[in-house]
Amino acid sequence: MKRIVILGSNFAGYTAALELKRKLKKEPHEVVVVSPTHEFLYVPSLIWVPFGRRKLEDIRFDLRPIFDKKEIKFIEQAAEHIDPDDNTVFLQNGDTITYDYLVVATGVKMNFDVIDGLNPEDHKIQNIVIPKLAIKTNEAFEDLVKDPGPVVVGATQGASCMGAAYEYLFNMDKELRQRKVRDKVDLYWITPEPYVGNFGIDGMPGGEAMLKMFMKLYNIHWIVDASIEKIEDHKIILKDGTELPYKMSMLMPPFEGADVMKASPKLSDAKGFVPVEGSYQHVSYANVFAAGLAVQVKPPFEIKGTAFGVPKTGYPSDVTGKIVAENIARLIQGNTKLKSKEWGRIPAVCIMDAGRKEVYLLANHLFKPRQFAIILPNVFNDFGKVLLEKYFLWKNKRGLAWLP
Ligand SMILES: Cc1cc2nc3c(=O)[nH]c(=O)nc-3n(C[C@H](O)[C@H](O)[C@H](O)COP(=O)(O)OP(=O)(O)OC[C@H]3O[C@@H](n4cnc5c(N)ncnc54)[C@H](O)[C@@H]3O)c2cc1C
Repeated sequence: MKRIVILGSNFAGYTAALELKRKLKKEPHEVVVVSPTHEFLYVPSLIWVPFGRRKLEDIRFDLRPIFDKKEIKFIEQAAEHIDPDDNTVFLQNGDTITYDYLVVATGVKMNFDVIDGLNPEDHKIQNIVIPKLAIKTNEAFEDLVKDPGPVVVGATQGASCMGAAYEYLFNMDKELRQRKVRDKVDLYWITPEPYVGNFGIDGMPGGEAMLKMFMKLYNIHWIVDASIEKIEDHKIILKDGTELPYKMSMLMPPFEGADVMKASPKLSDAKGFVPVEGSYQHVSYANVFAAGLAVQVKPPFEIKGTAFGVPKTGYPSDVTGKIVAENIARLIQGNTKLKSKEWGRIPAVCIMDAGRKEVYLLANHLFKPRQFAIILPNVFNDFGKVLLEKYFLWKNKRGLAWLP
């Protein structure tokens, strides 16, 4: 009997666990999930929490009944570090667990050290990446509505999750209009991208023109190739000397690997990401795999100006969770030919909420060269994004992770 230990229980880890159990159904292997939380969180809807459109309970659910039903052992603990030479995970409570196969799906940690004053604990800049900060952003938004002033939204140098920041920007515009204070707010977008709509994937056909049109239509000012020098109490100063006053600001920071991976240098790079083959098998340890945000993905193009990273969205996180499950099942069943699909070759399937509208981004590959890439606006509503959320929560609450 083999023991497969999965670190992380959200998009990638949850999918990998359920898929492993399904693929090894008739065999007596043990699947163990280690994670500090028993709640699944539909992260993409965090962009709506600051505006009161979603409460956290709308986008979370308890994983434990599903794990019980599927006979997946769940340990509600954070992993502290891994010794891959001894096949052992050390947990924060002092316990250890050994494995035959390990799946790292621990997501990311935000790097606030890139600029002084960026950390939300300094009470200057808001953030939407984790629930407690999204709630604080909601409080700051309510204060802004009562006493409006300039708003700066964007991403810092080195950031990679620009898509979510764009969504937040357009929702900020929409909500300020609904609350009848938009005319009292000067709204700025600052981004490390060389052009709006680059998204860290070297753009999509027509994307730049479409986003510029939205920005002009909504009277949003934008600055590209932006690098932040300093964050003061009510002023952001860029490296070129531009000063942007703000009453409220949300800036997406760069991401790094989770602490557990930074504490496990044999398995990760300097930023804590896991270097893998196209099969998501670790480059040096054949019984270790990684999926989702934890995977090391290098930009497939040269960055000449301000640094930015490659986005790692939900669809590839789900796909890599499935590939990892398939490959571990193959190895256990004696098949050494592994399934391979490099991150950049996974299709792009994304919906970007643009306030009162939305944009569908579809391509046969995330990275160029692509044979098919299209960006389709829905100018009537953001129903597609809502439907996707409903579908995703529906399938995962029922343990149907095998569905697309
Ligand atoms: C605000 C925002 C909006 C987004 N919007 C979109 C969108 O519209 N569309 C889209 O496709 N993608 C979007 N994304 C990206 C998407 O959320 C990620 O791709 C997805 O969450 C990645 O899944 P993951 O399982 O790799 O990581 P995560 O979802 O971050 O999960 C990591 C898991 O690891 C666990 N963990 C952490 N540390 C440890 C430890 N030490 N030991 C054990 N477990 C640990 C965590 O508790 C969690 O269960 C958005 C991201 C953000 C931040």
